[in-house]
Amino acid sequence: MSVETTKQPAATGTLPTELIRLEGVTKRFGDNTVLDGLDLSVDAGRHVTLIGPSGSGKTTILRMLMTLTEPDEGTITVDGQQLFPAPEKRVREIRKKIGMVFQQFNLFPNMSVLRNITEAPVRVLGMSKDEAEARARELLDLVGLADKCDARPTRLSGGQQQRVAIARALAMRPQVLLLDEVTSALDPELVAGVLDLLRDIVRSTDITMLCVTHEMGFARDISDQVLMFDSGRIIETGPPEKIFSEPEHERTREFLGAVL
Ligand code: ADP
Repeated sequence: MSVETTKQPAATGTLPTELIRLEGVTKRFGDNTVLDGLDLSVDAGRHVTLIGPSGSGKTTILRMLMTLTEPDEGTITVDGQQLFPAPEKRVREIRKKIGMVFQQFNLFPNMSVLRNITEAPVRVLGMSKDEAEARARELLDLVGLADKCDARPTRLSGGQQQRVAIARALAMRPQVLLLDEVTSALDPELVAGVLDLLRDIVRSTDITMLCVTHEMGFARDISDQVLMFDSGRIIETGPPEKIFSEPEHERTREFLGAVL
């Protein structure tokens, strides 16, 4: 099956549509300047990977897009609508467009797998329970867990839990999928399966993706664009073949030397 997401604007014959824009975004935690006047633009349908050392501000960007943390300076727009400041109603509208998968799965432990997936479509989108369940079953089939509908997440392996989390994010038919080191908490033998699933999703949908990962092979496969972060700034950007094969910046070469 194909994964249905909110349709992106037609790409053919028209200029690309900018979906996400950060301008001059600065974020500090105390004395720690985590993002330093960052500019970033992502067009609809693009797959952008954020790489760089730990602590360089990558996750903070995803968290801002999810409105989990606020910038101190600068503007962020999603699909032409500004966040921070934004009225509650606009924040809710923007949140509906964005799905996120976290390193630690963050499933609801007291709900069945099926209910984990149907909860937000029913509560937030107002989908009927039947429709949400039918959709959840399709998604569980897609992620290879059709037989786990009634299981509690704690009974599943880390890889299975992450597949449920991916299905849960897709159930909202987001325009944008944010992936935050989604394989970092998995046992090594479970990583490849989750990355293969994500590769399939990238190939079969027109979803816009922002991905923080240390899996450089995966980044190379799925990205249209790679952003190299260092100390809260983007120090180098380009298509994966350039960043991974001919990085220009010394810090990029050092980083890739350490992780590849
Ligand atoms: P990355 O994803 O590149 O590893 P993060 O965006 O997670 O980096 O973190 C950037 C910096 O911000 C780190 O130094 C981290 O300790 C700090 N940081 C993130 N969240 C908080 C917080 N809630 N309070 C204080 N410091 C934070």
